[in-house]
Amino acid sequence: MDWSHVKVTALDQATRDEGGDGRSAKDVFHATSNPGCVAFTYEDIILMPGHINFPVHEVDLTSQLTKKIKLKAPFVSSPMDTVTESNMAINMALQGGIGIIHSNMTIEEQASEVNKVKKFKNGFITDPACLKPENTVGDVIEIKKTLGYSGIPITTDGKIGSKLLGFVSARDIDFIDEPTTPLSTVMTTDVVTGTEGCSLEEANQILRGSKKGKLPIVDPNGNIVSLIARTDLHKARDYPNASREQKNKQLLVGASIGTRPADKDRAKALVDAGVDVIVIDSSQGDSVFQLDMVQYLKKTHPDLEVIGGNCVTCSQALHLIEAGVDGLRVGMGIGSICTTQEVCAVGRAQGSAVYHVARFARKFGVPILADGGIQSTGHITKALCLGASCVMMGSMLAGTEEAPGEYFFQDGVRLKRYRGMGSIEAMSKGSEKRYVWGDDAIQVKVAQGVSGSVVDKGTLRRYIPYLCQGVRHGMQDAGVKGLDMAWERLYSGDLRFEIRSPAAQKEGGVHSLHNYSKRLY
Ligand code: 5GP
Repeated sequence: MDWSHVKVTALDQATRDEGGDGRSAKDVFHATSNPGCVAFTYEDIILMPGHINFPVHEVDLTSQLTKKIKLKAPFVSSPMDTVTESNMAINMALQGGIGIIHSNMTIEEQASEVNKVKKFKNGFITDPACLKPENTVGDVIEIKKTLGYSGIPITTDGKIGSKLLGFVSARDIDFIDEPTTPLSTVMTTDVVTGTEGCSLEEANQILRGSKKGKLPIVDPNGNIVSLIARTDLHKARDYPNASREQKNKQLLVGASIGTRPADKDRAKALVDAGVDVIVIDSSQGDSVFQLDMVQYLKKTHPDLEVIGGNCVTCSQALHLIEAGVDGLRVGMGIGSICTTQEVCAVGRAQGSAVYHVARFARKFGVPILADGGIQSTGHITKALCLGASCVMMGSMLAGTEEAPGEYFFQDGVRLKRYRGMGSIEAMSKGSEKRYVWGDDAIQVKVAQGVSGSVVDKGTLRRYIPYLCQGVRHGMQDAGVKGLDMAWERLYSGDLRFEIRSPAAQKEGGVHSLHNYSKRLY
């Protein structure tokens, strides 16, 4: 039975109007009721509970990333060089989100990362380590040490995409004592292969018959295109929520570009590689350079989705919307690694930015991506309930296995490196274009970010389902079954909020314990 009518009729409207059940977002954020012009962020606000008349699994997180792209999990990995390359993007898409490949690399490298995502087929390894016949047994031992496997396809030039000449496995080199022995003398040349285009099921059958550990897949000319590993087949699973194109079922992927003239070439290479959405990466998106770039991209590549930003005000958003963006990235100076507000004195608290820009852009049908400052599932729920369609995360994802870089230990804690794209370290590699406008050669680099590390978060395969379930619980507690319902109540005033005092914020976290351990899932 639905009891909501009882609650509504029994509630004294005057009590509610006086704020007895929290305030509407309008009363929290707008000038008339917030004359002190206080800006709020996720930690400041708390949602009032709603009425629950549905189980948690019925909460639907499906949401628009852009006008045309819909995601089943509203999560986006940030275009940062310690967060998103192809491995992150593949796994974000498999879990229903999307990854935006960073641009702190050459055009060719970035296009190749996009290509790897587009070519990904569950269970097929599209970039296996290959060697050539002149390589030695020592090289295989080295690969075993660094990458952990020793089944290596041998091709004419040691690269994927070239003619397959043979295969070397652990058994071929087991009893060879001389590491300089060339692979041409030990490799198996009678290799069982699969044909390009075969399904995972067909490949599985061949592997079963061949009793081998690996199955190279070749094209009609005998060039190797991918590899299947018996061990991976056991792990292969379905990803029902994966973000895929309708047409050919390839995974969705995004990539970032800057606003310099050379970025037009970058955009072309990315489009040729199959990119679905381009994010124009700038900490202050309301510049003539970006507006020109948005117009250029929409005119030259009409099917491409373009996300503009960053912006935090309605006036910035209006310029970008008028230029033709399909989505807006919101956030300035609030990222975990960011020092923009300190260095430049410009920016906005993220709760206020998301609420105001989302409310404004909604009139134009442009979705909002709340970028940065997310520290927990609760922050994601708040961002979505303030009008964001999706959230973009850096620090939350940088410690996962799928982020670039190796783990290391410090003080007994397993960590990964995470740095701002405006840190001196990242800018030295080329990313200063996000923070500098115009073509002037930069004489003095002014950092707008820091370089640090984050704690190991395990694999995305477990972490993203945890984030989804955490957000579903939050939405259920707030009494909303999905984003449309949340926004209907947000703008009607039925979704209620309160501002937390510093003591209330403290009370809302773990307290009064001598010590504790915190496991997320
Ligand atoms: P996080 O999720 O770690 O809080 O924030 C990630 C976001 O911070 C990125 O998506 C990007 O918008 C922003 N960002 C990345 N690097 C820098 C930087 O060096 N300086 C500033 N101001 N923002 C950064």
